[in-house]
Amino acid sequence: MKRHSHQRDIILEEVRRGKTHPSAQEVFDRVRPRLPKISLGTVYRNLEQLAAHGVIRKLELPGQQRRFDGDTSEHYHIRCLACGQVDDIPGPLLVQIRQLPDTLNNYTILGHRLELIGICPRCRETAGPNPSNGQ
Ligand SMILES: [Zn+2]
Ligand SMILES: [Zn+2]
Repeated sequence: MKRHSHQRDIILEEVRRGKTHPSAQEVFDRVRPRLPKISLGTVYRNLEQLAAHGVIRKLELPGQQRRFDGDTSEHYHIRCLACGQVDDIPGPLLVQIRQLPDTLNNYTILGHRLELIGICPRCRETAGPNPSNGQ
């Protein structure tokens, strides 16, 4: 039992490190140097448990690998269409969305999700000069 919680601490540490919103595979790659015997399945199970307890957030992005976020505060994400990188969007939540009534179309509204999509700086650079720069 003790060994398991130790594993989970390390997994949690790696999810919280940086703001990269890693997939289970990426977390697995990061913890392996510290936990050489761990399996991808164990990493996955721990991530699901941490998410179920609200310690981390699970990002379910359409058509994407599931990713995990060590920052559980409410915030939006932007995803690069070219490489799939996910970044946080700083700034306030859309207040108007939150002012919607609790029921809408007979649905009980529990929250909202918003994902912005774009091209990250790195991909923009490798794609060549930006035409809007006049080059
Ligand atoms: Zn990119
Ligand atoms: Zn995030």
